[in-house]
Amino acid sequence: MKVLQVRDLSKTYTGKVAHEALTNIDLTINKGEFVGVMGPSGSGKTTLLNMISTIDSPTSGEVIINGKNPHRLSSNDLALFRRRELGFIFQSFNLLNTLTLKENIVLSLALDNVSVEEMNKRVEVLSKQLGIEKILNKRPYEISGGQAQRTAIARALAHSPQLILADEPTGNLDSKAARDVMEMLTKMNQEQQATMMLVTHDPLAASYCDRVVFIKDGKFYNEVYCGENRHVFYQNIIDVLSLLGGNHNDISSIRIQER
Ligand code: ADP
Ligand code: MG
Repeated sequence: MKVLQVRDLSKTYTGKVAHEALTNIDLTINKGEFVGVMGPSGSGKTTLLNMISTIDSPTSGEVIINGKNPHRLSSNDLALFRRRELGFIFQSFNLLNTLTLKENIVLSLALDNVSVEEMNKRVEVLSKQLGIEKILNKRPYEISGGQAQRTAIARALAHSPQLILADEPTGNLDSKAARDVMEMLTKMNQEQQATMMLVTHDPLAASYCDRVVFIKDGKFYNEVYCGENRHVFYQNIIDVLSLLGGNHNDISSIRIQER
């Protein structure tokens, strides 16, 4: 089943100088898939994510999520659609400091009048899977970045959205916490059958995906599938990135480690 279909999507930013940030992008994500999107900085990754999350609208082409085009919804229906069908994970966590972790996790359920019993059940399952069950009464400023991102993952999954969108979720974490968060995302992809799209600069993070789509100058460039072996997949990702050129934060450091 197709959860996301992006068809012939283009985006031109208008302004003093018009800039075509995306050109004729096609992308399909099936239920339960975990898809990475990579490309040099300025290649259009965030633009693509913003078209899918409906933060911004395309110049032409279509976005279909679970059979519906969210860009055709009224603003009321769109707000509901985003809250129910999408889950977001950000680089900067975006947890509310005035709420406990548990309250952060159930916020969207509370807005949808889900019963307290049901909310508690969801929190119990997710917090155990994510290893945050002992810190649920803490507030975001009392926990580590890795714990904050685990909480954000629980929040994104709480309402069982059709599609989880993650923009550089490991960007603010040290390498151990980053690996840990990628392992958690993989686990949730498997155990909750969550469908995920991950935008990342980090080839190691991308290597946890089932497939990585590369874009360059707003156009589709290449696509690599994870086969049997994740180490080979990781190496394939590095190879495409070096062909792609451009500015990748992580490539130089990896090359140094390999020598
Ligand atoms: P990435 O996330 O891959 O770094 P972006 O999607 O942020 O790339 O940007 C793609 C291109 O579109 C860049 O050249 C950027 O400068 C341009 N761009 C992004 N947002 C805007 C905007 N709001 N107005 C004009 N140009 C933009
Ligand atoms: Mg970006």
